[in-house]
Amino acid sequence: MRPLVLSPLFASLTSLPGVGPKLEKLYARLLDREAPLVVDLLFHLPAGVIDRRARPKLNEVQPGQVVTVAVTVEEHRAPPPHRSRAPYRIIASDGTGPTLTLTYFNARKDYLEKLLPVGETRFVSGTAEFYDGMLQMVHPDRVVDEKGFADLPLVEPVYPLTEGLALGNVRRAMDGALRHLPELPEWQDEAWVARERFPKFSAALRHLHRPAEPHDIAPESPAWTRLAYDELLAGQLALALVRAHMRRQAGRGSASEGRLRARILKSLPYALTHWQQKAVDDITADLARPQRMLRLLQGDVGSGKTVVALIAAAAVIEAGRQAAFMAPTEILARQHLNTIAPLAEAAGVRVAILTGRERGGERETLLDRLALGDIDLLIGTHALYQEEVAFHDLALAIVDEQHRFGVHQRLALAQKGDAVDVLVLTATPIPRTLVLTFFGDMDVSELREKPPGRQPIDTRAIPLTRIEEVEDAVGRAIGSGQRAYWVCPLVEESEKIDLAAAQERFEELRQRFGKKIDLVHGRMKGSEKDAAMARFAAGETQLLVATTVIEVGVDVPEATIMVVEHAERFGLAQLHQLRGRIGRGPGHSTCLLLYKAPLGETAKARLAVLRDTEDGFRIAEEDLKLRGEGDLLGTRQSGLPGFRIARIETHGKYLGAARDDAALVQSRDANLESERGHALRQLLYLFGKDEAIKLIRAG
Ligand code: ADP
Ligand code: MG
Repeated sequence: MRPLVLSPLFASLTSLPGVGPKLEKLYARLLDREAPLVVDLLFHLPAGVIDRRARPKLNEVQPGQVVTVAVTVEEHRAPPPHRSRAPYRIIASDGTGPTLTLTYFNARKDYLEKLLPVGETRFVSGTAEFYDGMLQMVHPDRVVDEKGFADLPLVEPVYPLTEGLALGNVRRAMDGALRHLPELPEWQDEAWVARERFPKFSAALRHLHRPAEPHDIAPESPAWTRLAYDELLAGQLALALVRAHMRRQAGRGSASEGRLRARILKSLPYALTHWQQKAVDDITADLARPQRMLRLLQGDVGSGKTVVALIAAAAVIEAGRQAAFMAPTEILARQHLNTIAPLAEAAGVRVAILTGRERGGERETLLDRLALGDIDLLIGTHALYQEEVAFHDLALAIVDEQHRFGVHQRLALAQKGDAVDVLVLTATPIPRTLVLTFFGDMDVSELREKPPGRQPIDTRAIPLTRIEEVEDAVGRAIGSGQRAYWVCPLVEESEKIDLAAAQERFEELRQRFGKKIDLVHGRMKGSEKDAAMARFAAGETQLLVATTVIEVGVDVPEATIMVVEHAERFGLAQLHQLRGRIGRGPGHSTCLLLYKAPLGETAKARLAVLRDTEDGFRIAEEDLKLRGEGDLLGTRQSGLPGFRIARIETHGKYLGAARDDAALVQSRDANLESERGHALRQLLYLFGKDEAIKLIRAG
């Protein structure tokens, strides 16, 4: 149960002043939360400040400067009645010479007479300008009397916004949220807090939302760093709890002599690479040990992870147990089945597939066989972790393309057996610095080199205006027997429009290439997609127009050309994944990135990176860098993926400390029962990691 003291922070945003259902929707977009809570708003940190501390006399004011001046109101000059569009001007002075004209458009006379009464002193803050040689301020941001001035924040935070939501709205709501902010017990180690000069959690939030100095809101400020560290620790602690939970039951060793492995290796048309061999050795050693395995197999697209996974499965199967292989999409699951089935058959391994498509009697028979142990290896999609799927003795869960699945999904699959070993395959070349944040201290095997015989992919960026030349080139290639992908972008917000665009392109290309062309997209039925993929893999079709459904893992070694339309709309990692679909065989491959000119700086840099390298790690690092340069206002500022407050450039260096701290907590107070332990539970709630708390009790 969530500690009561946190309740005000977990209230709906509509509990704050000025936030009704309409604004709530805008906040949902701004904060990227379906039902945003007070805590989500508090974690929305300023992107900058307006500094109103400059307090010049009127004869010292610089044009363009944001100033706060004390002036005496001299005169109101209302527009003549027949010219209501003309501005309302108020003349003020401070005895130093120049006058200041306060200019209002469409303002009400009675309102202004009350706000700025003639003869009184007022504090006025805003941007001063010269107009016709006169000092003026159009719609001052603030007009207050002496008493109001005492409460006026001279350094005002500026927040990233979304369309329809004004800065004033956010500030007002934030004020309300800060009033809800309780004092919470310290969950950080006291000595560490002292050493780093961290303010307390609630004080840190107050500093950031009510800065006294502009640098108070810098990411490297003690306040921001404190919160970033809180976030990192919450993440590391949650991972540690998940991991401890998974390792709790002493694993069961699956001893094997390697008979099955030998049979599989014999039926492979190639020898394992050095890296594959090493990964296989690591994994089989892990599996034989009575501790639970939690291992990440990291390898760029095309590095050959599938066969390593199969050999891992073979080890537990030889010990008389079962393995599950979960893929993120239907296409991929079927492709794994197609790759694996012949090898498995040769080795005498019984394989089946379970996706959303297996239904009715067929499905029931399959589930029965699974429960009886008549299936050795079950390949599938997320359908695998559904409740009614029961294994006879699941020993190994393999999760492919892991970034698409959350921690709890991995867990749910691992829950289906007794001390299940977990092997996570990832093709997303996660920079080393980030492996930790996503996976905690999983063991890592890497496939650093691709199988031999691959040729470099010739990558070119070409403006869309030259699409006809590209079509000609594709035509020539197809004529000479090659196979090509043609990828059309699919942007979620306007799926229909994009789909229409893909269909249109398909029709147009079909006019030209006739029967040799096919189309796959996400709206097609699974069986239709498979059929299209199968025709392409068999060479019946040679040009496959596709939306990004082919992004992940699809393997047709004969495909040598990839055209990506509107490449500027894709992320770097995504383009790398797409390109990874070609260059898989011995043939020379070409990737043509069609872009709509003119390209922005970032888009240009992205395409240049792709042209220059095929190294997934380098691409991932560059991607992070480029994403770090997002504009300040309007968009969510880029941070560590999956993090709201921590930024890799600034706070990445704290990751190690957070990890050590989490490990220490784990070793001293695994059930979070001590005073600090209870405070840490609150931390986990605040950062949405409370799922992990349940695991403490679950044993
Ligand atoms: P990924 O790591 O992207 O999942 P795959 O497992 O799909 O890569 O392998 C990519 C291609 O490389 C497949 O066609 C596979 O048959 C082939 N392959 C895998 N290992 C080797 C190897 N040692 N030598 C030659 N080809 C290999
Ligand atoms: Mg793969």
